[in-house]
Amino acid sequence: MHGPVVTGVDLSSSHKVEPMETLTRLQELVNAAERIVVFTGAGISTESGIPDFRSADGVWTKYDPRDFTFDKYVASAEIREMSWRMRGDFFGLNPQPNAGHRAIAAWEATGRMSGVITQNIDGLHQDAGSTNVVEIHGTARDVMCIGLAPTMGTPDGCGFRQGHEWAMRLVNAGDPDPMCPVCGGIVKSAVVSFGQTMFPADIMRATTLAKNADLFICVGSSLQVYPAADLPIQAAENGAAVVIINNEPTPLDSIATLVVRGSAGEILGSLQVPDKTSH
Ligand code: NAD
Repeated sequence: MHGPVVTGVDLSSSHKVEPMETLTRLQELVNAAERIVVFTGAGISTESGIPDFRSADGVWTKYDPRDFTFDKYVASAEIREMSWRMRGDFFGLNPQPNAGHRAIAAWEATGRMSGVITQNIDGLHQDAGSTNVVEIHGTARDVMCIGLAPTMGTPDGCGFRQGHEWAMRLVNAGDPDPMCPVCGGIVKSAVVSFGQTMFPADIMRATTLAKNADLFICVGSSLQVYPAADLPIQAAENGAAVVIINNEPTPLDSIATLVVRGSAGEILGSLQVPDKTSH
């Protein structure tokens, strides 16, 4: 069987390294780590059939991301209706975890994983079995009341929260813009939309994980969306080795200990994470 096709850059020696050498370096970093944090972006889920922002046939060729700001969602029933249609398309893909999600979930049993921080809203890490997952951009699996007229990009709801099935059932039954059954407020997918404030508790948990990691592995993120992309920087500043696994260069390659270019699922699936006791 062939191993993953990779190229790599070892920033500690600033030279391009051969594929096998890259994977060996990665394996060595994993073997030496006690507190691994994996930070994932849309690129880990493309192998599950969910397009990232860059995919030629992706969701963003059908919908304009500029329409989905928090303020527009609050102001326009038309945008809300389009947004539920987009969610319907998304869940219609029936995405399943891939080798990358499964590998990360299996590492939990080794006692070396501190947690997963994800920018994704698809819930596939949890489906694969990961239990300590911080979803810094929220989740499309739930919907929540955001209040009657929230301002400053900040949800102001009554606390009503349900699985996304609740909203999809109403939408499919002919209600294009379901309202909160408790207070009559606007209901929205529990994701952090463009122009929406992030959930402070999630940012705090993610920052704590990043600062305490000794190995911080970024997978499938263009590392261009802030403040998410600040997390690898904080990890590096606090002494973690930073690995970037992506199929194209990122703006943070220069702060990484090791850059591995190739397919996320193949690379993660090829790694062995030894049990803590074998250290
Ligand atoms: P992005 O789309 O900006 O970047 C994804 C990166 O992954 C790109 O650099 C791409 O080249 C790379 N990539 C794609 N497939 C890969 C693979 N199989 N192996 C290795 N690399 C691969 O994504 P981002 O950095 O996560 O930022 C986009 C934002 O959009 C996120 O905040 C996220 O909330 C949201 N988003 C989420 C999903 C999801 O939940 N699955 C999907 C699309 C967008």
